[in-house]
Amino acid sequence: MPSFTQRVSHLEPEGAYAVLAKSQALEAQGREIIHFEIGEPDFNTYPNIALAGIEAISTGKTRYNPPSGLAALRQALASDAGQRRGVSFSPKQVVIGPGTKPLMMLPMLAVLEPGDEVIYPDPGFPSYAAAIGIAGATPIRVPLLEKHRFDLDPDALDTLISPKTRMIVLNTPSNPTGSVLSAETMAHLADVAVKHDLWIISDEIYSRFVYDGAAPSIVSHPGMAERTIIADGFSKAYAMTGWRLGYGIMPEALADRVGLLLTHSVGCTATFTQYAGIEAVLGPQDPVDSVRAEFQRRRDAIVRRLNDIPGVACLAPQGAFYVFPNVRSFRKPSAELADYLLEEAGVAVLSGTDFGEYGEGYLRLSYTNSLENIHRGLDRMQDALARLR
Ligand code: PMP
Repeated sequence: MPSFTQRVSHLEPEGAYAVLAKSQALEAQGREIIHFEIGEPDFNTYPNIALAGIEAISTGKTRYNPPSGLAALRQALASDAGQRRGVSFSPKQVVIGPGTKPLMMLPMLAVLEPGDEVIYPDPGFPSYAAAIGIAGATPIRVPLLEKHRFDLDPDALDTLISPKTRMIVLNTPSNPTGSVLSAETMAHLADVAVKHDLWIISDEIYSRFVYDGAAPSIVSHPGMAERTIIADGFSKAYAMTGWRLGYGIMPEALADRVGLLLTHSVGCTATFTQYAGIEAVLGPQDPVDSVRAEFQRRRDAIVRRLNDIPGVACLAPQGAFYVFPNVRSFRKPSAELADYLLEEAGVAVLSGTDFGEYGEGYLRLSYTNSLENIHRGLDRMQDALARLR
């Protein structure tokens, strides 16, 4: 067989899929597993949105549409996303894609040269380092430390800036820690970006799930509109993970380039999916509000239950739907501990190291499961962890 390129040699599967496969294999043997591994809402797409998609299919909205997306959806997003962030966007800055992931990778392909350095959070969403590598750039991790409540440490960031730095990737609220970047950190990041003329990718996919305070966008800081690429999408806010619908908001000239990359890669994003997206944005938002309230109840319960387990310490994250408890006291690598919990307790969690080397000593639990299952899962974890002490 002919060989592969360097560009794809670093790619690995996402930990969540690997654990899901393991837990499904155990389920096939008759074991009952409680799932805390997968990062997707456990609710169905809200009925008004699903119906809009069905109606679009039945009325023939099944053909190609423009590569950067339907004008009506770009318009709706420019206005909604701008209002939520207190800035004004033109529809030409909005690019629609099949999920949020391509709206990170394609802008990277458009602005990064081989040898450029990109600073990204560790622990962080695994697709950042993957996409940086595909673009031929060098990923440079900046730690998110528990002692700073998993906020990005401005001093650590300063030491990583080099003449080759071209971009910083941010994610607020964060997967996997649930942390929100503080106002001071954000102001510092904006200063650094302007001073060194950097691009920022700001992954704001969890921005609708904030429980304490707010998670402002860096785009609203002076000088940031011309260098910020907001990546956001419908998967989490509207429980639409399988529909594949995301968007990026960026300076218009870059949006044009990304539109061309979409033209020559995916062609366009599914037309009926975008009609469902229009309903999601323009329709009633109360389902999102009730889901946020439900996630907040679950967060409070899971944080309390984790902190009741001797040897576990868990901060209360301000957003997203993840907790990232410290389990160092068990003196086992996190990956081993996650395996142990799956095998011994039938509880599927991820190792913090699935999100980078600074995740060692932590587990990630997604609380996209019912309160009842959260309590059952935590009972089992508590018993299994007690046997290790
Ligand atoms: N960013 C983060 C931080 C995520 O957690 C996810 C999904 N797990 C995505 C982006 C990708 O979302 P989408 O389904 O819109 O591609």
